[in-house]
Amino acid sequence: MSNNKYKILVVEDDPNITSFIQAVLEANDFQVLTAPLCRQGVLMFSSHNPDLVVLDLGLPDMDGLDFIRQVRQTSMVPILVLSARTEESDKVTALDLGANDYVTKPFGTAELIARVRAALRVTRHSLQAAAPGSIFMVDNLVIDYDRRQVAVGGKLVHLTQTEYNILALLSQHTGKVMTYSAIIRAIWGSMDDGSIKKLQVNMANIRKKLGCRPGDNRYVTNELGVGYRMLDE
Ligand code: CA
Repeated sequence: MSNNKYKILVVEDDPNITSFIQAVLEANDFQVLTAPLCRQGVLMFSSHNPDLVVLDLGLPDMDGLDFIRQVRQTSMVPILVLSARTEESDKVTALDLGANDYVTKPFGTAELIARVRAALRVTRHSLQAAAPGSIFMVDNLVIDYDRRQVAVGGKLVHLTQTEYNILALLSQHTGKVMTYSAIIRAIWGSMDDGSIKKLQVNMANIRKKLGCRPGDNRYVTNELGVGYRMLDE
């Protein structure tokens, strides 16, 4: 009866948070499996093949980061990390290890559902994005990967090579938070003291050229202290 439902594995040791998440997801027509321990989560992951994992980073038996390392050896399943404010640096590590997104505790129903839906969309996009010669479109922004051209509302935007590379990179990971270090390593190869500043300056120029005023997150949101996320709708 529930064959068409997305199956979500929730790995979380706090029973109150688990039942909250379970209730919210089930009310939104998702099928939910729960595991209170990391090891159990890994086993359930291999036996049930869920469409998405909601993962607490602070688990009693093993680090949530170990779960990501293990699962990413074989699977690109979207992983949504739950982090406490005291786990800020773990959150960044989780994203660098391949988690798709994070929610900081405490979080509400709307935020959780929005992040779950976005993470599930990421999978569909990445399957479609495999076609060569493709064009990326969101809102009135168009990126032509073959010509390395960017247009907003039909008008060509003149980006530097670096600016184009950053925007193209983000557009290939829509919906996913890319950390500063992941972007920097992809664009410049390595990281030094000035790298984050350099990235932020480039990003400010990109936004300006795309016609975004300060605080306008139409295409790219700034995840404070973490990185950037390109929106997919
Ligand atoms: Ca916990």
